[in-house]
Amino acid sequence: MFIDTAKIFVKSGDGGHGAVSFRREKYVPLGGPDGGDGGRGGDVVMVADPNMTTLLDFTYKRKYIAENGVNGAGSKCYGKDGETLYIKVPMGTIVRDTETNKIMADLSHAGDSFVVARGGKGGKGNAKFATPTRQAPNFAEPGMPGEERWITLELKLLADVGLLGFPNVGKSTLLSVVSKAQPKIANYHFTTLKPNLGVVKVADTSFVMADIPGIIEGAAEGVGLGLDFLRHIERTRILIHVVDISGIEGRDPIEDFIKINEELRKYSVKLWDRPQIIAANKSDMLYDDEVFENFKKKLNEMGYKQVFKISAASRQGVDELIKAAAELLSTIPVVDLEIKEEDRFVPEEKRFTYTIREEDGVYVIEGSFVDRLLLTVNVNDPDSLKYFHKVLKNKGIIDELLEMGIQDGDTVRLNDFEFEFLL
Ligand code: GDP
Ligand code: MG
Repeated sequence: MFIDTAKIFVKSGDGGHGAVSFRREKYVPLGGPDGGDGGRGGDVVMVADPNMTTLLDFTYKRKYIAENGVNGAGSKCYGKDGETLYIKVPMGTIVRDTETNKIMADLSHAGDSFVVARGGKGGKGNAKFATPTRQAPNFAEPGMPGEERWITLELKLLADVGLLGFPNVGKSTLLSVVSKAQPKIANYHFTTLKPNLGVVKVADTSFVMADIPGIIEGAAEGVGLGLDFLRHIERTRILIHVVDISGIEGRDPIEDFIKINEELRKYSVKLWDRPQIIAANKSDMLYDDEVFENFKKKLNEMGYKQVFKISAASRQGVDELIKAAAELLSTIPVVDLEIKEEDRFVPEEKRFTYTIREEDGVYVIEGSFVDRLLLTVNVNDPDSLKYFHKVLKNKGIIDELLEMGIQDGDTVRLNDFEFEFLL
Protein backbone atom coordinates (compact mmCIF):
# COMPACT_ATOMS: atom_id res chain seq x y z
CA MET A 1 0.00 0.00 0.00
CA PHE A 2 1.38 3.37 -0.93
CA ILE A 3 0.55 5.86 1.67
CA ASP A 4 0.20 9.57 1.57
CA THR A 5 -0.81 11.13 4.90
CA ALA A 6 -2.05 14.38 6.41
CA LYS A 7 -3.16 15.56 9.81
CA ILE A 8 -5.94 18.12 10.23
CA PHE A 9 -7.95 19.71 13.01
CA VAL A 10 -11.74 19.65 12.76
CA LYS A 11 -14.36 21.30 14.88
CA SER A 12 -18.10 21.14 14.45
CA GLY A 13 -20.32 24.11 15.28
CA ASP A 14 -21.64 24.81 18.75
CA GLY A 15 -25.39 24.73 19.21
CA GLY A 16 -27.06 28.12 19.58
CA HIS A 17 -28.53 28.98 22.98
CA GLY A 18 -32.24 29.01 23.61
CA ALA A 19 -33.64 32.49 24.28
CA VAL A 20 -35.39 33.81 27.36
CA SER A 21 -37.97 36.28 26.17
CA PHE A 22 -41.55 37.36 26.89
CA ARG A 23 -44.16 38.65 24.57
CA ARG A 24 -44.62 42.41 24.61
CA GLU A 25 -47.87 43.72 23.44
CA LYS A 26 -49.80 46.87 23.93
CA TYR A 27 -52.14 46.57 26.89
CA VAL A 28 -50.69 43.17 27.85
CA PRO A 29 -48.49 43.79 30.85
CA LEU A 30 -47.11 40.24 31.18
CA GLY A 31 -46.96 38.36 27.90
CA GLY A 32 -46.23 34.64 27.69
CA PRO A 33 -42.73 33.26 27.17
CA ASP A 34 -41.68 33.41 23.51
CA GLY A 35 -37.93 32.63 23.54
CA GLY A 36 -37.06 30.51 20.48
CA ASP A 37 -34.66 27.55 20.26
CA GLY A 38 -31.04 27.85 19.24
CA GLY A 39 -29.92 26.34 15.93
CA ARG A 40 -27.89 23.18 15.63
CA GLY A 41 -24.14 23.51 15.06
CA GLY A 42 -22.85 22.41 11.64
CA ASP A 43 -21.27 18.95 11.21
CA VAL A 44 -17.87 18.35 9.69
CA VAL A 45 -18.17 15.65 7.04
CA MET A 46 -15.44 13.95 4.97
CA VAL A 47 -16.53 12.98 1.45
CA ALA A 48 -14.71 10.87 -1.13
CA ASP A 49 -14.45 12.84 -4.36
CA PRO A 50 -13.22 11.19 -7.58
CA ASN A 51 -11.72 14.50 -8.72
CA MET A 52 -9.27 14.55 -5.83
CA THR A 53 -6.11 12.56 -6.27
CA THR A 54 -3.84 13.54 -3.41
CA LEU A 55 -3.90 14.85 0.14
CA LEU A 56 -1.69 17.74 -0.88
CA ASP A 57 -4.34 20.39 -0.14
CA PHE A 58 -4.18 19.48 3.52
CA THR A 59 -0.59 20.58 3.86
CA TYR A 60 -1.77 24.15 3.17
CA LYS A 61 -4.96 24.25 5.19
CA ARG A 62 -5.07 22.35 8.45
CA LYS A 63 -8.01 23.75 10.40
CA TYR A 64 -11.60 23.09 9.43
CA ILE A 65 -14.28 24.68 11.55
CA ALA A 66 -18.00 24.38 10.85
CA GLU A 67 -20.48 27.17 11.56
CA ASN A 68 -22.12 27.58 14.94
CA GLY A 69 -25.88 27.46 15.33
CA VAL A 70 -27.43 30.88 15.84
CA ASN A 71 -28.99 31.71 19.21
CA GLY A 72 -32.75 31.71 19.49
CA ALA A 73 -34.58 35.02 19.83
CA GLY A 74 -37.88 36.46 20.98
CA SER A 75 -41.18 35.99 19.14
CA LYS A 76 -40.31 32.25 19.01
CA CYS A 77 -37.62 32.91 16.44
CA TYR A 78 -35.50 29.83 15.90
CA GLY A 79 -31.78 30.33 15.44
CA LYS A 80 -30.46 29.18 12.06
CA ASP A 81 -28.61 25.85 11.96
CA GLY A 82 -24.90 26.01 11.23
CA GLU A 83 -23.94 24.97 7.69
CA THR A 84 -22.41 21.49 7.29
CA LEU A 85 -18.75 21.70 6.36
CA TYR A 86 -17.84 19.15 3.69
CA ILE A 87 -14.19 18.25 3.25
CA LYS A 88 -13.33 16.53 0.01
CA VAL A 89 -10.79 13.73 0.07
CA PRO A 90 -9.61 11.31 -2.62
CA MET A 91 -11.26 7.92 -2.89
CA GLY A 92 -9.33 5.41 -0.82
CA THR A 93 -8.80 7.73 2.14
CA ILE A 94 -8.71 6.17 5.56
CA VAL A 95 -9.79 8.52 8.35
CA ARG A 96 -8.35 8.01 11.82
CA ASP A 97 -8.91 9.72 15.15
CA THR A 98 -5.37 10.97 15.79
CA GLU A 99 -5.45 10.66 19.57
CA THR A 100 -6.43 6.98 19.63
CA ASN A 101 -5.23 6.12 16.12
CA LYS A 102 -8.50 4.20 15.67
CA ILE A 103 -10.12 4.03 12.24
CA MET A 104 -13.23 6.17 11.83
CA ALA A 105 -13.91 5.41 8.18
CA ASP A 106 -12.55 3.96 4.97
CA LEU A 107 -13.84 6.14 2.14
CA SER A 108 -13.29 3.85 -0.85
CA HIS A 109 -16.08 4.72 -3.24
CA ALA A 110 -17.10 7.98 -4.83
CA GLY A 111 -19.53 9.76 -2.53
CA ASP A 112 -18.70 7.74 0.59
CA SER A 113 -18.96 10.08 3.55
CA PHE A 114 -18.44 10.17 7.28
CA VAL A 115 -19.26 12.70 10.01
CA VAL A 116 -15.98 13.31 11.84
CA ALA A 117 -17.37 15.95 14.20
CA ARG A 118 -21.04 16.23 15.04
CA GLY A 119 -22.55 19.67 15.54
CA GLY A 120 -23.85 20.55 19.00
CA LYS A 121 -27.59 20.52 19.60
CA GLY A 122 -29.33 23.85 19.90
CA GLY A 123 -30.79 24.75 23.31
CA LYS A 124 -34.53 25.07 23.85
CA GLY A 125 -35.93 28.54 24.33
CA ASN A 126 -38.07 29.39 27.35
CA ALA A 127 -41.25 29.05 25.30
CA LYS A 128 -40.66 25.29 25.43
CA PHE A 129 -40.52 25.29 29.22
CA ALA A 130 -43.93 26.79 29.76
CA THR A 131 -46.40 24.53 31.54
CA PRO A 132 -49.84 25.23 33.06
CA THR A 133 -48.21 25.70 36.46
CA ARG A 134 -45.11 27.44 35.20
CA GLN A 135 -46.30 30.19 32.95
CA ALA A 136 -43.29 32.42 32.96
CA PRO A 137 -40.14 30.29 32.87
CA ASN A 138 -37.20 32.58 33.30
CA PHE A 139 -34.66 30.13 31.94
CA ALA A 140 -33.66 28.44 28.72
CA GLU A 141 -31.27 25.72 27.63
CA PRO A 142 -27.76 26.51 26.49
CA GLY A 143 -26.59 25.06 23.19
CA MET A 144 -24.33 22.01 23.29
CA PRO A 145 -20.71 22.55 22.37
CA GLY A 146 -19.49 21.05 19.09
CA GLU A 147 -16.85 18.33 18.93
CA GLU A 148 -13.24 18.92 18.09
CA ARG A 149 -10.46 16.53 17.29
CA TRP A 150 -7.38 15.99 15.20
CA ILE A 151 -7.82 13.47 12.47
CA THR A 152 -5.24 11.67 10.42
CA LEU A 153 -5.91 11.01 6.75
CA GLU A 154 -4.15 8.21 4.96
CA LEU A 155 -4.46 7.65 1.27
CA LYS A 156 -4.14 4.04 0.35
CA LEU A 157 -3.41 3.76 -3.28
CA LEU A 158 -4.60 0.38 -4.18
CA ALA A 159 -3.83 0.02 -7.81
CA ASP A 160 -6.95 -1.06 -9.67
CA VAL A 161 -5.16 -1.86 -12.89
CA GLY A 162 -1.70 -3.39 -13.22
CA LEU A 163 0.39 -2.94 -16.36
CA LEU A 164 2.18 -6.05 -17.40
CA GLY A 165 4.72 -6.72 -20.14
CA PHE A 166 8.35 -7.01 -21.20
CA PRO A 167 10.68 -4.04 -20.84
CA ASN A 168 10.41 -1.49 -23.66
CA VAL A 169 6.99 -2.50 -24.88
CA GLY A 170 5.61 0.91 -23.88
CA LYS A 171 4.13 0.48 -20.38
CA SER A 172 5.54 3.75 -19.01
CA THR A 173 4.52 5.61 -22.13
CA LEU A 174 0.97 4.31 -21.85
CA LEU A 175 0.79 5.24 -18.17
CA SER A 176 2.04 8.74 -18.85
CA VAL A 177 -0.47 9.46 -21.62
CA VAL A 178 -3.51 8.26 -19.68
CA SER A 179 -2.84 9.56 -16.19
CA LYS A 180 -3.70 13.04 -15.06
CA ALA A 181 -1.75 13.00 -11.85
CA GLN A 182 1.17 11.21 -10.37
CA PRO A 183 0.22 10.83 -6.74
CA LYS A 184 2.94 11.52 -4.26
CA ILE A 185 4.20 8.31 -2.79
CA ALA A 186 5.27 8.53 0.79
CA ASN A 187 6.19 5.83 3.24
CA TYR A 188 7.24 3.29 0.78
CA HIS A 189 10.22 1.29 1.65
CA PHE A 190 10.96 -0.68 -1.47
CA THR A 191 13.65 1.64 -2.61
CA THR A 192 15.27 -0.15 -5.49
CA LEU A 193 12.71 0.80 -8.09
CA LYS A 194 9.97 3.37 -8.01
CA PRO A 195 6.60 1.87 -8.70
CA ASN A 196 4.90 4.02 -11.28
CA LEU A 197 1.39 5.01 -10.41
CA GLY A 198 -1.10 7.17 -12.20
CA VAL A 199 -4.68 8.21 -11.67
CA VAL A 200 -6.76 7.69 -14.79
CA LYS A 201 -9.92 9.73 -15.18
CA VAL A 202 -12.78 8.26 -17.18
CA ALA A 203 -16.08 10.15 -17.39
CA ASP A 204 -17.15 10.69 -13.78
CA THR A 205 -14.96 8.11 -12.15
CA SER A 206 -11.28 7.35 -11.90
CA PHE A 207 -8.95 4.47 -11.23
CA VAL A 208 -5.36 3.96 -10.25
CA MET A 209 -3.03 2.31 -12.71
CA ALA A 210 0.35 0.92 -11.75
CA ASP A 211 3.28 -0.18 -13.81
CA ILE A 212 4.52 -3.55 -12.66
CA PRO A 213 8.19 -3.44 -13.43
CA GLY A 214 10.34 -6.16 -12.14
CA ILE A 215 8.14 -9.14 -12.66
CA ILE A 216 10.31 -10.39 -15.41
CA GLU A 217 13.54 -9.22 -13.85
CA GLY A 218 13.49 -11.91 -11.24
CA ALA A 219 10.57 -10.75 -9.16
CA ALA A 220 9.48 -14.30 -8.56
CA GLU A 221 12.80 -14.79 -6.78
CA GLY A 222 12.21 -11.74 -4.63
CA VAL A 223 14.51 -9.19 -6.22
CA GLY A 224 13.57 -6.01 -8.03
CA LEU A 225 10.84 -4.12 -6.27
CA GLY A 226 10.61 -6.78 -3.66
CA LEU A 227 7.83 -9.06 -2.62
CA ASP A 228 6.34 -6.32 -0.46
CA PHE A 229 5.49 -4.29 -3.48
CA LEU A 230 4.29 -7.27 -5.42
CA ARG A 231 2.02 -8.33 -2.61
CA HIS A 232 0.22 -5.02 -2.99
CA ILE A 233 0.15 -5.35 -6.71
CA GLU A 234 -1.63 -8.64 -6.08
CA ARG A 235 -4.62 -6.59 -5.09
CA THR A 236 -5.00 -5.02 -8.53
CA ARG A 237 -8.34 -6.07 -9.92
CA ILE A 238 -7.41 -6.37 -13.59
CA LEU A 239 -4.27 -6.38 -15.72
CA ILE A 240 -3.48 -4.65 -18.96
CA HIS A 241 -0.95 -6.82 -20.72
CA VAL A 242 1.12 -4.70 -23.11
CA VAL A 243 2.94 -6.31 -26.02
CA ASP A 244 5.00 -4.79 -28.80
CA ILE A 245 3.14 -5.69 -31.96
CA SER A 246 5.50 -3.83 -34.31
CA GLY A 247 8.17 -6.46 -34.37
CA ILE A 248 10.81 -3.73 -34.75
CA GLU A 249 12.87 -5.22 -31.99
CA GLY A 250 12.56 -8.63 -33.53
CA ARG A 251 10.22 -9.98 -30.92
CA ASP A 252 7.35 -12.31 -31.53
CA PRO A 253 4.30 -10.87 -29.74
CA ILE A 254 2.63 -14.18 -29.13
CA GLU A 255 5.76 -15.73 -27.70
CA ASP A 256 6.21 -12.69 -25.43
CA PHE A 257 2.66 -12.90 -24.27
CA ILE A 258 2.96 -16.56 -23.32
CA LYS A 259 6.33 -16.06 -21.63
CA ILE A 260 5.11 -13.23 -19.43
CA ASN A 261 2.13 -15.26 -18.34
CA GLU A 262 4.36 -18.18 -17.46
CA GLU A 263 6.49 -15.89 -15.30
CA LEU A 264 3.45 -14.40 -13.73
CA ARG A 265 2.08 -17.78 -12.87
CA LYS A 266 5.36 -18.70 -11.18
CA TYR A 267 5.20 -15.60 -9.08
CA SER A 268 1.55 -15.48 -8.20
CA VAL A 269 -1.32 -17.65 -9.27
CA LYS A 270 -3.65 -15.03 -7.84
CA LEU A 271 -2.32 -12.35 -10.13
CA TRP A 272 -2.20 -14.71 -13.06
CA ASP A 273 -5.89 -15.41 -12.52
CA ARG A 274 -6.86 -11.76 -12.90
CA PRO A 275 -8.76 -10.78 -16.03
CA GLN A 276 -6.39 -9.45 -18.70
CA ILE A 277 -7.01 -6.90 -21.39
CA ILE A 278 -4.38 -7.02 -24.08
CA ALA A 279 -2.88 -3.87 -25.57
CA ALA A 280 -1.02 -4.53 -28.82
CA ASN A 281 1.18 -1.44 -28.75
CA LYS A 282 3.34 0.43 -31.26
CA SER A 283 0.80 -0.20 -33.99
CA ASP A 284 2.02 3.01 -35.63
CA MET A 285 5.10 1.03 -36.64
CA LEU A 286 3.10 -1.90 -37.89
CA TYR A 287 3.12 -2.09 -41.65
CA ASP A 288 1.33 -5.37 -42.08
CA ASP A 289 -2.04 -5.29 -40.37
CA GLU A 290 -2.37 -9.03 -40.77
CA VAL A 291 0.18 -9.43 -37.98
CA PHE A 292 -2.30 -7.86 -35.58
CA GLU A 293 -5.27 -9.80 -36.95
CA ASN A 294 -3.33 -13.00 -36.55
CA PHE A 295 -2.24 -12.09 -33.03
CA LYS A 296 -5.80 -11.24 -32.06
CA LYS A 297 -7.14 -14.47 -33.48
CA LYS A 298 -4.60 -16.57 -31.59
CA LEU A 299 -5.35 -14.78 -28.31
CA ASN A 300 -9.08 -15.13 -28.83
CA GLU A 301 -8.51 -18.83 -29.25
CA MET A 302 -6.60 -18.86 -25.99
CA GLY A 303 -9.61 -17.31 -24.31
CA TYR A 304 -8.57 -13.64 -24.23
CA LYS A 305 -11.48 -11.77 -25.76
CA GLN A 306 -10.36 -8.18 -25.25
CA VAL A 307 -7.49 -7.36 -27.59
CA PHE A 308 -6.86 -3.72 -28.56
CA LYS A 309 -4.63 -2.29 -31.22
CA ILE A 310 -3.06 0.86 -29.84
CA SER A 311 -0.24 3.31 -30.19
CA ALA A 312 0.66 4.76 -26.82
CA ALA A 313 2.96 7.28 -28.49
CA SER A 314 0.25 8.70 -30.76
CA ARG A 315 -2.64 7.88 -28.38
CA GLN A 316 -4.38 5.94 -31.10
CA GLY A 317 -6.81 3.38 -29.70
CA VAL A 318 -5.91 4.38 -26.15
CA ASP A 319 -9.32 5.82 -25.23
CA GLU A 320 -11.08 2.63 -26.29
CA LEU A 321 -8.64 0.60 -24.22
CA ILE A 322 -9.17 2.75 -21.13
CA LYS A 323 -12.93 2.69 -21.56
CA ALA A 324 -12.85 -1.11 -21.72
CA ALA A 325 -10.71 -1.20 -18.59
CA ALA A 326 -13.14 1.05 -16.73
CA GLU A 327 -16.09 -1.06 -17.85
CA LEU A 328 -14.41 -4.25 -16.74
CA LEU A 329 -13.48 -2.67 -13.41
CA SER A 330 -17.04 -1.64 -12.79
CA THR A 331 -18.00 -5.30 -12.76
CA ILE A 332 -15.37 -6.23 -10.17
CA PRO A 333 -16.01 -4.99 -6.65
CA VAL A 334 -13.35 -3.12 -4.72
CA VAL A 335 -12.09 -5.20 -1.87
CA ASP A 336 -12.86 -3.16 1.21
CA LEU A 337 -10.30 -2.74 3.88
CA GLU A 338 -10.83 -5.23 6.63
CA ILE A 339 -11.02 -3.26 9.85
CA LYS A 340 -10.47 -5.33 12.95
CA GLU A 341 -12.95 -4.62 15.73
CA GLU A 342 -10.20 -3.39 18.06
CA ASP A 343 -9.02 -0.88 15.45
CA ARG A 344 -12.42 0.66 14.94
CA PHE A 345 -13.14 4.07 16.44
CA VAL A 346 -16.03 4.12 18.89
CA PRO A 347 -17.45 7.60 19.43
CA GLU A 348 -17.57 8.74 23.02
CA GLU A 349 -21.10 8.51 24.23
CA LYS A 350 -22.53 11.91 24.91
CA ARG A 351 -24.12 10.80 28.15
CA PHE A 352 -24.09 13.17 31.02
CA THR A 353 -22.74 11.61 34.14
CA TYR A 354 -22.54 12.57 37.77
CA THR A 355 -21.23 11.28 41.08
CA ILE A 356 -22.54 11.84 44.61
CA ARG A 357 -20.40 11.70 47.70
CA GLU A 358 -20.83 12.78 51.29
CA GLU A 359 -18.22 15.12 52.66
CA ASP A 360 -18.53 16.34 56.30
CA GLY A 361 -22.30 16.09 56.18
CA VAL A 362 -22.53 17.86 52.83
CA TYR A 363 -23.80 15.93 49.82
CA VAL A 364 -21.60 16.84 46.85
CA ILE A 365 -22.91 16.14 43.33
CA GLU A 366 -20.47 16.60 40.48
CA GLY A 367 -20.00 15.77 36.82
CA SER A 368 -20.98 16.82 33.32
CA PHE A 369 -24.65 16.40 34.16
CA VAL A 370 -24.36 18.98 36.93
CA ASP A 371 -22.34 21.40 34.80
CA ARG A 372 -24.97 21.32 32.13
CA LEU A 373 -27.93 21.55 34.46
CA LEU A 374 -26.50 24.62 36.16
CA LEU A 375 -26.07 26.32 32.81
CA THR A 376 -29.78 25.88 32.20
CA VAL A 377 -31.02 26.98 35.55
CA ASN A 378 -31.36 30.47 36.85
CA VAL A 379 -30.99 29.82 40.57
CA ASN A 380 -32.49 33.18 41.51
CA ASP A 381 -35.73 32.39 39.79
CA PRO A 382 -38.34 30.31 41.70
CA ASP A 383 -39.80 28.73 38.57
CA SER A 384 -36.40 27.82 37.39
CA LEU A 385 -35.64 26.16 40.73
CA LYS A 386 -38.81 24.14 40.52
CA TYR A 387 -37.69 22.87 37.13
CA PHE A 388 -34.29 22.14 38.62
CA HIS A 389 -35.82 19.97 41.34
CA LYS A 390 -37.93 18.14 38.85
CA VAL A 391 -34.86 17.28 36.80
CA LEU A 392 -33.04 16.00 39.90
CA LYS A 393 -36.04 13.85 40.75
CA ASN A 394 -36.46 12.46 37.24
CA LYS A 395 -32.79 11.61 37.04
CA GLY A 396 -33.16 9.58 40.26
CA ILE A 397 -30.81 11.80 42.22
CA ILE A 398 -33.32 12.58 45.00
CA ASP A 399 -33.90 8.83 45.56
CA GLU A 400 -30.17 8.25 45.62
CA LEU A 401 -29.67 10.95 48.23
CA LEU A 402 -32.42 9.39 50.38
CA GLU A 403 -30.77 5.99 50.06
CA MET A 404 -27.53 7.54 51.23
CA GLY A 405 -29.39 8.69 54.33
CA ILE A 406 -29.86 12.38 53.67
CA GLN A 407 -31.88 14.19 56.33
CA ASP A 408 -34.15 17.19 56.25
CA GLY A 409 -31.99 20.29 56.44
CA ASP A 410 -28.77 18.71 55.15
CA THR A 411 -26.79 20.67 52.59
CA VAL A 412 -26.54 19.60 48.96
CA ARG A 413 -23.77 21.16 46.84
CA LEU A 414 -23.59 21.26 43.05
CA ASN A 415 -20.39 23.05 42.04
CA ASP A 416 -20.77 26.46 43.69
CA PHE A 417 -24.52 26.27 44.21
CA GLU A 418 -25.78 25.01 47.57
CA PHE A 419 -29.27 24.34 48.81
CA GLU A 420 -30.92 22.90 51.86
CA PHE A 421 -32.56 19.54 51.39
CA LEU A 422 -36.25 19.62 52.30
CA LEU A 423 -38.50 16.63 52.11
P1 GDP B 1 8.40 0.17 -20.86
O1 GDP B 1 9.76 -0.34 -20.58
O2 GDP B 1 7.45 -0.91 -21.13
O3 GDP B 1 7.92 1.10 -19.78
O4 GDP B 1 8.46 1.02 -22.22
P2 GDP B 1 8.59 2.58 -22.44
O5 GDP B 1 7.28 3.24 -22.24
O6 GDP B 1 9.73 3.11 -21.68
O7 GDP B 1 8.87 2.63 -24.00
C1 GDP B 1 10.02 2.06 -24.58
C2 GDP B 1 10.28 2.75 -25.92
O8 GDP B 1 9.20 2.52 -26.81
C3 GDP B 1 10.40 4.24 -25.77
O9 GDP B 1 11.44 4.68 -26.61
C4 GDP B 1 9.08 4.76 -26.26
O10 GDP B 1 9.17 6.04 -26.83
C5 GDP B 1 8.70 3.75 -27.29
N1 GDP B 1 7.27 3.63 -27.49
C6 GDP B 1 6.34 3.50 -26.55
N2 GDP B 1 5.11 3.43 -27.11
C7 GDP B 1 5.26 3.55 -28.42
C8 GDP B 1 4.36 3.55 -29.54
O11 GDP B 1 3.14 3.47 -29.42
N3 GDP B 1 4.91 3.67 -30.76
C9 GDP B 1 6.25 3.78 -30.96
N4 GDP B 1 6.66 3.91 -32.18
N5 GDP B 1 7.11 3.80 -29.92
C10 GDP B 1 6.64 3.67 -28.68
MG1 MG C 1 8.91 1.53 -17.99
